[in-house]
Amino acid sequence: MVFSGPRSLTPEERQAMLAAIVDSSDDVIISKTLEGIITSWNKSAEKLFEFTALEAVGNHISMIIPESRLSEEELIISRVALGKKIDHFETVRISKSGKEIPISLTVSPIVSESGRVIGASKIGRDISDRLTAEGKQAVLASIVDSSDDMIVSKTLNGIITSWNKAAEKMMGYSEAEVIGEHISIIIPPARLEEENFIISQIKSGRKIDHFETYRQTKDGREIPLSITVSPVLDSKGTIIGASKIARDITEQLKAKEEANRLYEEIAILNDKKDEFIGLASHELKTPLSTISGYLQILNRRLADEQDKNFLSKTLEQTKKLSTLVNDLLDVSVIESGKMVLRKESFNLLTVIDDAIELLNHSTLHTFTIKRDAEEIKVNADRQRIEQVIVNLLSNAMKYSPNPCGIEISITSNQKETTVGIKDCGLGINPDHVDNIFTRFYRAEENNPNISGLGIGLYLSKEIIDKHQGRIWVDTAPGVGSTFWFTIPNHTETFE
Ligand code: ADP
Repeated sequence: MVFSGPRSLTPEERQAMLAAIVDSSDDVIISKTLEGIITSWNKSAEKLFEFTALEAVGNHISMIIPESRLSEEELIISRVALGKKIDHFETVRISKSGKEIPISLTVSPIVSESGRVIGASKIGRDISDRLTAEGKQAVLASIVDSSDDMIVSKTLNGIITSWNKAAEKMMGYSEAEVIGEHISIIIPPARLEEENFIISQIKSGRKIDHFETYRQTKDGREIPLSITVSPVLDSKGTIIGASKIARDITEQLKAKEEANRLYEEIAILNDKKDEFIGLASHELKTPLSTISGYLQILNRRLADEQDKNFLSKTLEQTKKLSTLVNDLLDVSVIESGKMVLRKESFNLLTVIDDAIELLNHSTLHTFTIKRDAEEIKVNADRQRIEQVIVNLLSNAMKYSPNPCGIEISITSNQKETTVGIKDCGLGINPDHVDNIFTRFYRAEENNPNISGLGIGLYLSKEIIDKHQGRIWVDTAPGVGSTFWFTIPNHTETFE
């Protein structure tokens, strides 16, 4: 068998092959005579300009040239006629339906065998997408320029590569002055180290968020800035620089300083108020004790029943007054951090019995005690714990307008002893629950006619906290509340 090797193409085959290449190209490929008559029109041209080859061939090229650009054609033809090529000429052409298409054209002369220019071939590429991207870039650039924040970019070596209007305004350097300069021109000498830190963070791909520092203006002023620095990546994801957004925080710092100053002023006034409460209650306490003492002596000496009755009412009110004065004194003791616990081991049940006895005679409420032992020993400050129990019981009575059974439950395990005081009173609105243990807080709308200073629960919490216990309330408006507190069973080890 004879092997027939490759043979050269016949002119017809060559033509067919070229036609196939032209037709399969994504670019528009058109040829025309020097007079502008279209002689060929590929598939992409059909698609882009919406004229079929049949419609286009034989017609003048001006059918796709906007009127305002007709003179371009003369220019192109005159160059091509001289045998010159036109490379990547960006212009606009128009489609059959009147759509303007941005296009990049390369026009080459078609030369006959005898070397004469007989026409032009035109390769065109639709550049709408590229222009859209450029448009986006222009939008971004205008955002950057209209920002009130300073936006600057730099290389990893610290060379400034962009500098927006706000940067010009803030730092006093124009764009032209700083592009190509090292960023250190705006860094105060004492802070130059910061730049190394920033660059090392950026090199490892980390962003720096709201870093508060100072930068130096052209005229030498140092201004406080909050800066955020992010890595700039190229299309392959390699870190090639950093972009920096900086906000002038002068006003913010001033406001902060003012707030601090006001805070300090308030703290001083607050201390003064506590000091006053302490002094006033101390001064009130002594005459009150004297009054109380004399009233008691008088009580023993009076014979008339009605007088005795008046006197015992006076004594009762004096006792209330003493309790208030003592509570106020306690507030100032706590506020000055001077509350000291005198711990001893005692039977909590006895203290509860004593508290009930103290209150029982002045109320229509009944008390029931639920206990799971005859004796529950705790190691605590007896007087302070009694103060807490009396407080909670008084509140249970005070905030239950209709007399009902107040239940006291005491349970104890290895870890702690828990006391619960349950009433059937007004309950507390959930909005207030978090606040009732704070100083002077009263859920006023709950008790418009019930007097008080809003100190009792605050003192109780301070006392229980000091014992490392917990105090809280379970409550439902209109149903009632149960106040709970715990005393840990081995507090000595924590003290
Ligand atoms: P005071 O009773 O002097 O107002 P407290 O510190 O003892 O102060 O209580 C703070 C607030 O908590 C009270 O004003 C009241 O609104 C609410 N409160 C306390 N105990 C009860 C209770 N058992 N039932 C309903 N509300 C209570």
